[in-house]
Amino acid sequence: MQKSWDVIVIGAGVAGGLAAFDCARRGLRVLLVEKRSFPRWKVCGCCFNANALAALTAAGLPNLIRDQGAVPLDQLRLGWSGKSLNLALPGGWALSRERFDQALVNAAEAAGAIVRFQTSAVLEEMTTGGRMVRLRPSPGAPIERIKARVVLVAAGLQHQVIPPSHAASSRSMPESRLGAGCLIHDDDCSYEPGAIHMAIGQRGYVGLVRREDGALNMAAAFDSAAVKSSGGVARAAEAVLTQAGFALPRRLESSRWQLTAALTRRAGQFAGHRFFLLGDATGYVEPFTGEGMAWALAAGVAVAPFVEEAQGEWTTDLERRWRSRLVELTISRQRLCSVLSTLLRQPLATKALFSLGCQWPAVPQRMISSLNRVSPLMASS
Ligand SMILES: Cc1cc2nc3c(=O)[nH]c(=O)nc-3n(C[C@H](O)[C@H](O)[C@H](O)COP(=O)(O)OP(=O)(O)OC[C@H]3O[C@@H](n4cnc5c(N)ncnc54)[C@H](O)[C@@H]3O)c2cc1C
Repeated sequence: MQKSWDVIVIGAGVAGGLAAFDCARRGLRVLLVEKRSFPRWKVCGCCFNANALAALTAAGLPNLIRDQGAVPLDQLRLGWSGKSLNLALPGGWALSRERFDQALVNAAEAAGAIVRFQTSAVLEEMTTGGRMVRLRPSPGAPIERIKARVVLVAAGLQHQVIPPSHAASSRSMPESRLGAGCLIHDDDCSYEPGAIHMAIGQRGYVGLVRREDGALNMAAAFDSAAVKSSGGVARAAEAVLTQAGFALPRRLESSRWQLTAALTRRAGQFAGHRFFLLGDATGYVEPFTGEGMAWALAAGVAVAPFVEEAQGEWTTDLERRWRSRLVELTISRQRLCSVLSTLLRQPLATKALFSLGCQWPAVPQRMISSLNRVSPLMASS
């Protein structure tokens, strides 16, 4: 394999896949490295909003979600303490990460990127005009060291690409919740397609959505103590669904859940000498209706001009400008989600919000519209 690249993208999730595509279509020599083999399932609610579509459109992939058979979403069904509140969703789609992430990788390959699966990458030392990256392919294969002018770290929530002592590695906040997810293949009709079903409990929430293949995707966040005291993730999910007054999916007991690391986190720096961070690697705020992937995609489509500029001299001004770009594109938009997730952890505030929403549905409806409003920055790029 070539020993020197214009850009190495670490992680083929939504941020890395789109960044690899956009860099490759601009004629850069791109290596996209992914530690898992694809297609792969991952913990995620699988819901895309209009901002995700706007980012894909800006990158020249306006039909990617629909071409994969995504299920249109038009309703958000909230459940809390046996009460339910139905709100209209201003456009959204449910699509499995197996299909979406694979489609992005295919687009990146078609644009000229080279893709290596089952290869874990670690950022190494600076070198003249670039950064060294260590690749660890599947067990038994030799370790390789290659160089890139720029490295994009798009390795998700809890990656080990950068040493934990570096300011660009992310730290979880105290009291952060754990993410969890599972897939249920059932013939249950309690959870109809076209809606995000969101059960809010005292110590977590569970989101359920029907994917394009009919399977029920469950994605949740729990207080870590709730997982321990309930006797496992499936039990914690059962408790939340019961508290919310939602039906228990028939195969819930035999479901196989996967846990994530502590969710709420933030990296101290979003770039360093010849590398940029994007997507969840920069930090994580709990999403509600498809914001997470929209933020990651917005960063994925914004980074290519920085990569092009960094093919020459590296300046700390690039690092500063990437930070400002991320703040305007994503960090500032994460505030409402952050406030909402804090409020929904307080029983009295949840009760007040829910009663208010039941009496005046226009109030939560306005919040949903605000979360889903297409960023003018995306619309104009
Ligand atoms: C419970 C839960 C529900 C969610 N629901 C939604 C939702 O409905 N809608 C929404 O928009 N967002 C949702 N999100 C958020 C969304 O999943 C993330 O924001 C999004 O996946 C971030 O994309 P990313 O590309 O930054 O990281 P990821 O999608 O996590 O991709 C990172 C990739 O990097 C790879 N990798 C990691 N380390 C290395 C390494 N060293 N070398 C090579 N490869 C590596 C990983 O294998 C992975 O494929 C949810 C998240 C959680 C936890």
